[in-house]
Amino acid sequence: MSATLDVLGEDSTSREQALKGEALYQEALSEIDAQSLDANISVKLSMLALRFDENLCIEILQKLIRSAEIHDSFVRIDMEDSSVTQQTLDIYRRLRKETHRVGTVVQAYLRSTEQDVYELMEESDTYLRLCKGIYVEPEELAFKGFTEVQDAFLRNLEQMLRGGIKKVGIATHDQRLIEGSVDLLRRLEVPKEQYEFQMLLGVTEDLRSDLVAKGHPLRVYVPFGEEWYAYSSRRLRENPKIAGHVIRNMLPF
Ligand SMILES: Cc1cc2nc3c(=O)[nH]c(=O)nc-3n(C[C@H](O)[C@H](O)[C@H](O)COP(=O)(O)OP(=O)(O)OC[C@H]3O[C@@H](n4cnc5c(N)ncnc54)[C@H](O)[C@@H]3O)c2cc1C
Repeated sequence: MSATLDVLGEDSTSREQALKGEALYQEALSEIDAQSLDANISVKLSMLALRFDENLCIEILQKLIRSAEIHDSFVRIDMEDSSVTQQTLDIYRRLRKETHRVGTVVQAYLRSTEQDVYELMEESDTYLRLCKGIYVEPEELAFKGFTEVQDAFLRNLEQMLRGGIKKVGIATHDQRLIEGSVDLLRRLEVPKEQYEFQMLLGVTEDLRSDLVAKGHPLRVYVPFGEEWYAYSSRRLRENPKIAGHVIRNMLPF
């Protein structure tokens, strides 16, 4: 299995905070290289100044991408809530023109995703992670029904695979979506270089092992760092069953 490292933190409000985030990522990239790990980084633009200084955000990203090039790694731009979807896609487009060491994420729950995927694939070779989406969004923007989001996910995946996406990260722990994805990959005879499954560290480890045993590439998303509260509470809101995991992880034993 390979990994992607997410230094926890979001919604920076000062240049110092954003640069501190960058420094942590620079350290992570050096260490990935020093330890010869098959890993890349996942970044949230709001941690890197997006909400108060877009130019600074782009500058930091460019520096991280340069380091990723030196260390033979890759920068994935996570997708945050809909107030920054367009801005995030625009920044990805701009950087994608400069390098292939950058990718981003699309969320199946957003009604706009199908069109976004279509446009991104028209423009260039593109590297996308597909996930359901974790933020609370209004009905005008997002599908709300559980099966509606599942159906959109499989539609988006098929669109990407048929459209010749460079590489797709299939990010889900949902058994129906995993089975549907495996079925699509088989029917469309998708080569292993064109996709990978992605799962969060510690979640559905049986499903993870099963996919790996069947020969599918799989990347584990590893969140770490001190700013864990926003990340954990969002996941708790989405899936109250994980309260037990969070509480257990907070205890020093
Ligand atoms: C690698 C990766 C990257 C992601 N990046 C983004 C991103 O950039 N932007 C974004 O909006 N969202 C992101 N997400 C979150 C994603 O959008 C979903 O909210 C999340 O994955 C849950 O959806 P699911 O497809 O796993 O299905 P669900 O139906 O929510 O989950 C299926 C089953 O998996 C288990 N499960 C799921 N999540 C957890 C958990 N946290 N802890 C314990 N058990 C769990 C439960 O057993 C659940 O029943 C990412 C998810 C992954 C796996």
